[in-house]
Amino acid sequence: MEDLIVQKYGGTSVGTVEKIKRVARRIVETKNAGNKVVVVVSAMGKTTDELVDLALAINPNPPSREMDVLLATGEQVSISLLAMAIQTIGHDVVSLTGAQCGIQTSDVHKRARISGIDTARIERELADEKIVIVAGFQGVDENRDITTLGRGGSDTSAVAIAAALEAKCCEIYTDVDGVYNADPRVVPTATKMDEVSYQEVLEMASLGAGVLHPRSVELAEKFKMPLIVRSSYNNNEGTIIKEDVKMEKVLVRGIALDENIAKISIFEVPDQPGIAFKLFSMLASANIHVDMIVQNVNRTAVNDISFTVDADELQEAVEVSQKFAFEVEAQKVAFDKGVAKLSVVGTGIVANAEIASKFFESLFELGINIQTISTSEIKISCLIDKERAKEAMIHIHKKFDM
Ligand code: ADP
Ligand code: ASP
Ligand code: MG
Repeated sequence: MEDLIVQKYGGTSVGTVEKIKRVARRIVETKNAGNKVVVVVSAMGKTTDELVDLALAINPNPPSREMDVLLATGEQVSISLLAMAIQTIGHDVVSLTGAQCGIQTSDVHKRARISGIDTARIERELADEKIVIVAGFQGVDENRDITTLGRGGSDTSAVAIAAALEAKCCEIYTDVDGVYNADPRVVPTATKMDEVSYQEVLEMASLGAGVLHPRSVELAEKFKMPLIVRSSYNNNEGTIIKEDVKMEKVLVRGIALDENIAKISIFEVPDQPGIAFKLFSMLASANIHVDMIVQNVNRTAVNDISFTVDADELQEAVEVSQKFAFEVEAQKVAFDKGVAKLSVVGTGIVANAEIASKFFESLFELGINIQTISTSEIKISCLIDKERAKEAMIHIHKKFDM
């Protein structure tokens, strides 16, 4: 649809009644400018966090299926209120849950993936000249059980809907002016990028830059959907994410910090073939995403294995690790939530030894110990003490003169 714009408003942008009213006006303006409009919204403010806390107060290890039933309610509150606000202005509007607008997902609760969208209902409503408001972050699996897409997943709902309807672009409205070269709330001197490629933003997002859900960037790239990140508080240009970007001559494009991770260590694992295979296939079967992996060489018949996981998946990962440790007669399993992953990102970074040395030097200057290092073509990451991570991020930003 040539004349369709998909807009997504995040939790802070719809956090109060006043903000909902302001967002409603903005949506109606877009519609009155001659566009068809589909809007995806997140839960108001900190609603999702509050729902998580409620669940944990009842059961420290709540079943994933019930978590999804609970968490999906947050977005249902926002779609109805936003629809009411738009109706008050005098425009035709309809709110739809994930199930109502045909968002089909896998059955992995709390981190489901969208497998398809039956757009018939949305298209019918658009044909009736209505503004369509869709609940982000949620869908249904084959059994019609409610699923959610992982924290921050509304971005992905928006891009998936934009792709399915062949919209002209997908606009992500949030509480900052666009994508910066470091989190502007941590590094006050961070600068906004006017344009950036899918690949670089994908890397930043995967490394913890919370401004976009990584899967949303992956989908946008796959369908060549132009993605615009901008503020819901002003009319500034924002950041355009697309394929061809005139590259500035800088190697380090961004710094990303992931504080939502934890480290698991398994001590004295037998040093023999098949052990790593067994551990990581058990974790994979439990759908646990594993990141940095290190195996220490003990020069004896046993090794220590450490790896990081998303903090949200720590409990399940520890359970799987304990089962593994029991089966292979490892000595013990420990975990540490006090870690963070700090990364520098940019095309061709790893080929330039100076960048790695400058990164490590910055941490040395602050007396911060590096627990694990990992690299790829376009990033270098260090696992460090979470308590000092923000300070390190600010220092490195200065050091690289960004
Ligand atoms: P929303 O509720 O709109 O989805 P999020 O909190 O998920 O908002 O994402 C916006 C936040 O992402 C910003 O407030 C900012 O602190 C954080 N952020 C982290 N890294 C970056 C970055 N590189 N550029 C912009 N924002 C970033
Ligand atoms: N409300 C969900 C969350 O807080 C989804 C989102 O905001 O994108 O994670
Ligand atoms: Mg978000």
